[in-house]
Amino acid sequence: MGREMPGAVIAAHGVGRALLAEIRNWSRQTHRHVKIVPDYYDKPYEGKRAIIRFSPGLKWTSHGGSDVALFHELVHASRSIRSVRLDVRDVPVDQDYGDQDEYLAIVLANIYLSEKTKGNTKFRPNHLSAPPGGTVLTMSSDEFSNLLYNTQGVDMSPVRLMENFRLTQRSLYDLLVRLPKDNPKFNLVKQYEERREWFLHAWCRPSVPCDTGARAAVP
Ligand SMILES: [Zn+2]
Repeated sequence: MGREMPGAVIAAHGVGRALLAEIRNWSRQTHRHVKIVPDYYDKPYEGKRAIIRFSPGLKWTSHGGSDVALFHELVHASRSIRSVRLDVRDVPVDQDYGDQDEYLAIVLANIYLSEKTKGNTKFRPNHLSAPPGGTVLTMSSDEFSNLLYNTQGVDMSPVRLMENFRLTQRSLYDLLVRLPKDNPKFNLVKQYEERREWFLHAWCRPSVPCDTGARAAVP
């Protein structure tokens, strides 16, 4: 797909089309628009818009390409136009995710990446692209496919993340749940919805992963 524009690459995938449909539907309802501007364009904007500054020519090699970076920003925009986006002052999250909205954007972009690569890739593990002076951090497909069991020990459990997503953005959540089985390869939203009752009652803890079948004692 080399020379294709990132937006066209996004629209060529089911996860991407779901996100674009969400933005289209809510732009109509809220009269708020998402504007993607080249980052050399610095004229200030007026009005209710979510502005994404994007460098079309930037060669983004970590975590899947410039379309993945744009997809991530579009997740933020889709929440901004609905006024459900919160930042680090509201919902901080540890393990270098920063806050709930970065955590969600990273997980959804990883789902998109799993469709694009058929699961055959390294995933983004947090909001740092690389530690200072270090190499790019990645997460294996095995780790990503088990993320719902909080294998990273994040202080906001993935169950809470998915419940908050479901509560605040049910339309996009449902579009992702309805995508075909195994395409995207790792659809954590569908996986969560299908086992939601179980997840909500499993008392998952970092020390007691749900997949062991064990239940932590009620505190
Ligand atoms: Zn972000």
